Amino acid sequence: MECTKCDQPAVMHAAYSGTHLCETHFRESVERRVRKRVREDDLLPASATPADPVTWVIGLSGGKDSTVLAQILAETFESDPRVELVALSIHEGIEEYRDESLEAARELVADLDVEHVTVEYEAEYGVRMDEVAAEDPLGMAPCAYCGVFRRDVLSKYADDLDADILLTGHNLDDEAETALMNVLEGDVSQMAKHFDASLGPFPERQAEPAFVPRAKPLRDVPEKEVALYAHLFDVPSHIAECPHAEESFRGEIQDLLLSLEDAHPGTRHSILAGYEELAKMAAERYRGEKTPELVSCSTCGAPTTGDRCRKCQLLDAVGTE
Ligand code: SF4
Ligand code: ZN
Repeated sequence: MECTKCDQPAVMHAAYSGTHLCETHFRESVERRVRKRVREDDLLPASATPADPVTWVIGLSGGKDSTVLAQILAETFESDPRVELVALSIHEGIEEYRDESLEAARELVADLDVEHVTVEYEAEYGVRMDEVAAEDPLGMAPCAYCGVFRRDVLSKYADDLDADILLTGHNLDDEAETALMNVLEGDVSQMAKHFDASLGPFPERQAEPAFVPRAKPLRDVPEKEVALYAHLFDVPSHIAECPHAEESFRGEIQDLLLSLEDAHPGTRHSILAGYEELAKMAAERYRGEKTPELVSCSTCGAPTTGDRCRKCQLLDAVGTE
């Protein structure tokens, strides 16, 4: 099959847009979607200047999504003095799995010449996820601990690194899954938070000034295309699943979405478009009303709604601090 835009052989078929693309046009198409998100989400505000650049901290796990995003952003903005890019990696204490993915992350940043900071749960909190998962004092899924620690590391380091925005490599499939999960769980306040934290226009995205705003510039690109991009353009990345991953509901939604997409190409795009609109309406409705006031955690000082933050409570349970 030939490329829809030229006479070169196609490397991919996008059923949702009815196009076949050759390597060159595929590359162009992925990069154009990322640049469009950067523009539309106003990640490079007019206030950024060479003397006062905007700092993007990108969460770099070493998996294909974060490495592809880092590579595209680093190459697109490498000679733009208004942007400073810093890569932030986290080692949760998951032997082998994270050792290998951080190897990919290091290889990538060495190629790109980007500042790279790595934080370990062990150094930060005195815990390793392999042990937390084995002991599991609260009888929860390992991800329930890990997610709280990760959020804490990300906001703390985003702050330390003077981040204006925290970028993550969520792709279209991830976002459509989350959207569908929130809808099926009936969690409208979660939708509102989602909008305030990562979807709204950047300058207004600070309804909670205690948190650095997030952005997901890869969210228009389906997972398969991210994987193809990494493969075709030799982006170092580690493809494996965390041994503690256990999100069964997400897995079900993932299967459902893939079969819907097969039967009705474009489903993920329409779910996401509708969800973002709904999330915006929910944010307007809930803002200020459902958000309890934030105070500082009495142990670590992180913003929280109670006396002590969730991370400090979990650290107590796993027997540190
Ligand atoms: Fe942590 Fe769960 Fe992700 Fe593994 S899958 S890194 S345990 S959040
Ligand atoms: Zn705390």
